[in-house]
Amino acid sequence: MKSITTILCFLLLVSCTKPEVAREVSVIPLPDSISLGEGTFILSAKTVIVAEGKAVAVAEYLRDFLKKATGLEVPVTDKRKKNAIILSLEDGLSGSKNSKEGYTLSSTSKNIVIKARAAEGLFYGVQTLRQLLPPEIESPTVKSDVVWSVPAVTISDQPQFAWRGMMLDCSRHFFPVSHIKNVLDQLAARKMNRFHWHLVDDQGWRIEIKKYPLLTTTSAWRVDHEDQHWNERPAQKPGEEATYGGFYTQDEIREVVAYASMLNIEVVPEIEMPAHVSCVFAAYPQFSCSGKKMTVLPGGVWPVTEIYCAGNDEVFAFLEDVLTEVIELFPSKYIHIGGDEATKTNWESCPKCQSRIKTEGLKNEEELQSYFIKRIEKFLSSKDRNLLGWDEILEGGLAPRATVMSWRGFAGGIEAARTGHDVVMSPTDFCYFDYYQGPKESEPLAIGGYLPISKVYRFNPIPDSLTMEESKHILGGQANLWTEYIPTPEHSFYMMFPRLDAMAEVLWTNPEKKNYEDFVHRLDRQFERYSNSGINHSKNIY
Ligand SMILES: [Zn+2]
Repeated sequence: MKSITTILCFLLLVSCTKPEVAREVSVIPLPDSISLGEGTFILSAKTVIVAEGKAVAVAEYLRDFLKKATGLEVPVTDKRKKNAIILSLEDGLSGSKNSKEGYTLSSTSKNIVIKARAAEGLFYGVQTLRQLLPPEIESPTVKSDVVWSVPAVTISDQPQFAWRGMMLDCSRHFFPVSHIKNVLDQLAARKMNRFHWHLVDDQGWRIEIKKYPLLTTTSAWRVDHEDQHWNERPAQKPGEEATYGGFYTQDEIREVVAYASMLNIEVVPEIEMPAHVSCVFAAYPQFSCSGKKMTVLPGGVWPVTEIYCAGNDEVFAFLEDVLTEVIELFPSKYIHIGGDEATKTNWESCPKCQSRIKTEGLKNEEELQSYFIKRIEKFLSSKDRNLLGWDEILEGGLAPRATVMSWRGFAGGIEAARTGHDVVMSPTDFCYFDYYQGPKESEPLAIGGYLPISKVYRFNPIPDSLTMEESKHILGGQANLWTEYIPTPEHSFYMMFPRLDAMAEVLWTNPEKKNYEDFVHRLDRQFERYSNSGINHSKNIY
């Protein structure tokens, strides 16, 4: 009995003290180490940001960020002064190991010092500082009645995984550049560093390609049946106009890539092939096996049997032209080529595809898909880019240097890692943010599934079955937001939040330090930040 009482007292202590500490310092994702000091730094009209060299860009980002809610014009200077936020780049910094993204942050009543080996680390120190300030700091307009205080702390921090990503499907529904930038801001606030931009799918082509203008005058537009259920929308009839859709111009893409780069986010474009491309055949029917002219699908049809013809060399010439323009726009090391869910029935009956199988000595249509992907990989390699694809690219033999994004569970990722290929884990069970996050009756219509935030938090990208050596190939993980049932920016935020906070902690924080109860306490403060920044989010967490 005594021991039970002792345990109860201990639990009470923990539950009484921890939330208080959490309210004082509430950072998501949880840093590697935090110790609380005494006193408070006050951001005021006297504050300056001290920075030199490569730190200046981060300082200017911080200056612009602080101005929005505080109204203060905090000057950037290279002279040390009192009441300063000092951003310092230092080689061989202890506490951040070798990570370019690691940093230390120390705040007292006198100043705040953020140190890192690289600008990336400084940037993440600034993101932590953002969460040490009152939640009103997230307001897009000036808040005049707030004391801009930062508690005295010493923080040392670095990420667990190199790939901390999110995918947004902009084909099923098109989102304007302003929303893409909002998404990037929220990713950066959570120290996430990859934005996987799904630009091509059956329901719309979203990227301007100068050499093939019909992709954006025709393939980007569908008949508007948004008032009907996704899976019950009739195809476009003769005489009906395709008015729903949109695309990103090359200038807009450059703008997004530059904006992301300022936020330490690499934008990884996804150009689907050989399937999920029927919208292309509304403009260029000659690239499918049947040559049949299609209309852009206004909703769900499954399976879509029209895919690129793998026996037609003009298809590869077209794809190389498209990828050449894509590569010029995106500096990303990785180009995602999809590769998923190719229904190969047309390949079985297509004379060109069958002739390719014979001349290349392939066994079947799966090996024909592998031939397709390998041929594209060869092209990407010649441009010094890495091919990334969904785990179906394993079928029929993986291309030699391909990186696999494992979505149908962990198995594909495990197989790839064991054969020495790099892997990004995004299994549906833990990473599909289009699934319901609470009881169906209290949530807007979703595609199905059930992924509460507590389960996202349990995600571990490294399966137990991998050896230490094999697990080095797991680059990290990412959340995927498919948007069949998500027509607006507000709705997309609703599906992301608060689950994105859990994903960010999974990918950044040392798993030994993760604690769901503590995370939920910190989320309370996070909800205040959401309301200040106007983020729509689900309340179905408790
Ligand atoms: Zn064919």
